[in-house]
Amino acid sequence: MNPIRILLQRATKERPILMLLADFPDVPAEGFEAQLPAWRPGRYELGNFAQNVYSVDGQQSDGTWVRLLKSDLHRWTVPTGIKRLRWMVYAEELNAGSTCVEDDLLFVNPVNCFLYDPKRPELPFEILLNDVQEDWQVATALQRKGMLLVAKDVQEVMDSPIMAAKSLWHRTYEVRGHAFHLWAYGQQLPDEDRFVNDHQRFTEAQIEAFGSFPVPEYHFLYLFPERDVRHGVEHEASTVIAMGPSEKVRTEAGYMEVIGIASHELYHTWNVKKIRPSEWLPYDFTQACPSRLGYVAEGVTTYMGDLFLLESGIIDVDGWCRLMERLLDKHYNNPGRLNLSVAESSFDTWLDGYKPGVPERKSNIYVEGAVLAFICDVAIMDKTGGNMSLQSAMTNLWERIGMQGIGLTENIYWAALDQCVGEVGGLATVRGAFCNGTGDTWIVLRAALKSQGIELSRSQDEQGVWRTRLERVAVEA
Ligand SMILES: [Zn+2]
Repeated sequence: MNPIRILLQRATKERPILMLLADFPDVPAEGFEAQLPAWRPGRYELGNFAQNVYSVDGQQSDGTWVRLLKSDLHRWTVPTGIKRLRWMVYAEELNAGSTCVEDDLLFVNPVNCFLYDPKRPELPFEILLNDVQEDWQVATALQRKGMLLVAKDVQEVMDSPIMAAKSLWHRTYEVRGHAFHLWAYGQQLPDEDRFVNDHQRFTEAQIEAFGSFPVPEYHFLYLFPERDVRHGVEHEASTVIAMGPSEKVRTEAGYMEVIGIASHELYHTWNVKKIRPSEWLPYDFTQACPSRLGYVAEGVTTYMGDLFLLESGIIDVDGWCRLMERLLDKHYNNPGRLNLSVAESSFDTWLDGYKPGVPERKSNIYVEGAVLAFICDVAIMDKTGGNMSLQSAMTNLWERIGMQGIGLTENIYWAALDQCVGEVGGLATVRGAFCNGTGDTWIVLRAALKSQGIELSRSQDEQGVWRTRLERVAVEA
């Protein structure tokens, strides 16, 4: 199959604008529609990336260029006879999900700047980094020959960020025959040996728990710029993690934050990239795709990401308690959790899931989702005498759903949890109260922590802000 060939380069030296030029193969006689994704996986709201597009032009058979008109907010009509498109994209923003061009960096997330033909999602892509110098380094999960990158179809290209820079730090490690690459851009870097060692530890612990890893090779792409940023985005065979200003990663708190994000993003390689809500399988980039399962995608991942720091020995129980306190402070200071359930709030991320929103309206899929995951985990351990856990259910889902390419539904998820406790509806009370309902978690959570030998207390300051405290207590033999 002939590929869509995309060439990209900086348009001018003066401003951060990218020019993209695409040749579409075997175009239909009647013309086609060129689509820019309306959102990007990992952020479940409309991205409105077209706001960065200055213009889209098409080249006619006589070589002249015409401006294309839109048929939709994120779509342009390509008239008969036009095969080559050229468009200009403003590329100044730098976070894990953006596209940014600087003098020493080209960072591209195809999902926010590549046009594709939604009627032919099977077309492969060839991407030429036209003005990247030979001696620059390129980090990406895509197949690569020099400055030419290849993706097998639209799903792969949109899920494969590209980082090219004059200078990139690079180390690798291996777990069970899988190569893991660490790439970093930035003036200051974390302590190198500790950084590699910690990645190796949480990677080993996660793969041990799941039994296998979904992709042959994996890339951590780190951006440590001089601007203020804290962000991570998961992809099928890579992740981008941005933390800045770069001096933060030289502090203990900043370093641990980066490692926490990294463990979270790696867990996504199973949970969401493979154990994926059916609404997102395959990704439909043309429109909003709400799902009630955000509490699995982000809640379980947030909880498990931290838990694997503990299981791999990167933090101890006290360290885990501090992370849990931060989470529970957010939880108890969000009265919205008592108004809109975490399942309904999952659906609504597409409206305002990434900002506080109106007062006391909604749950947060990361925070309330992680609290729910912890309650489920302890419920499963309690009912099985510690033989099963939430991870047992996730491993089971990886084998039965993820490996088979079957979409996750709410019923499949809860059935997997029930199966762990060997009882249909075994988790029904938890599901009713804290997933579909808006019950207060205090009593259940205190008991759950107590069963793990941890005492939960809380106090309110003069402003009414809750502060939680977790303390280890002696467990009777
Ligand atoms: Zn996440």
